[in-house]
Amino acid sequence: MGRAIAIANQKGGVGKTTTAINLSACLAEMGKKVLTIDIDPQGNTTSGLGLDKNNIENTIYDLFLGEADIEDCIKKEVLENLSLLPSDIDLAAAEIELIGVQNKEFIIKESIEKIRDDYDFIIIDCPPSLNMLTINAMTTADTVLVPIQCEYYALEGLTQLIHTINLVKERLNPELEMEGVVFTMYDARTNLSLQVVENVKSNLHQTIYKTIIPRNIRLAEAPSHGLPINLYDSKSAGAESYRYLAEEVIHRGEEEWQ
Ligand code: ADP
Ligand code: MG
Repeated sequence: MGRAIAIANQKGGVGKTTTAINLSACLAEMGKKVLTIDIDPQGNTTSGLGLDKNNIENTIYDLFLGEADIEDCIKKEVLENLSLLPSDIDLAAAEIELIGVQNKEFIIKESIEKIRDDYDFIIIDCPPSLNMLTINAMTTADTVLVPIQCEYYALEGLTQLIHTINLVKERLNPELEMEGVVFTMYDARTNLSLQVVENVKSNLHQTIYKTIIPRNIRLAEAPSHGLPINLYDSKSAGAESYRYLAEEVIHRGEEEWQ
């Protein structure tokens, strides 16, 4: 069955979207069937995978409002092996429009139920807040992967995030587990990056991925071309690192998900 991973951290700019796009694309490159779900109204995963986010019929917003079927919303094979459930700015209003609606925490989980088995991996990019959209990602997910930017305030907000994951596990999704932490934007030229990694390792008792994503300008450029890093610059340090991460994610799955 498809293993669903929510990429979450309520801080903006830590590398969630970059990780969602490039982990998805590298898993697809390795032959895995991937569904990428953009659950952020900013739609950066949607545009980063080459769609014009200002001009899409049937997005995840229509699923939230019950106005379209999942089959109409999923854009099949936007890249080889990679399908996308896109979002756009309309999604920003969903939380308000769903006030008072029962079971709104489970809308995405229920919507994708019948197509879940078509995929090996479902990668969900969360918005930078702990709101109803993020909760939908966490009720759909098997695990939560947390990107941490190698900067001074790296640990800020993580207690709250872990508390949220635990609440969802207790009350809404008993199967939810922490996938692990991934360091992003690591700058080998500064001591700070190294200190942050060591500080997080000694203070945060969570699984930490061996792969560390370096700060790499090609990763920042790729979205403006609507391409994931493995297609934009296949030999870049960024592409290599996301391939390693994809291998680790697959490997971890083989150990723990049989
Ligand atoms: P989030 O989704 O958590 O808000 P993003 O993935 O959008 O974060 O990243 C924030 C910014 O940092 C973007 O402009 C992105 O291109 C850039 N970025 C992310 N990861 C890297 C990296 N490893 N190297 C260089 N730039 C990066
Ligand atoms: Mg983002």
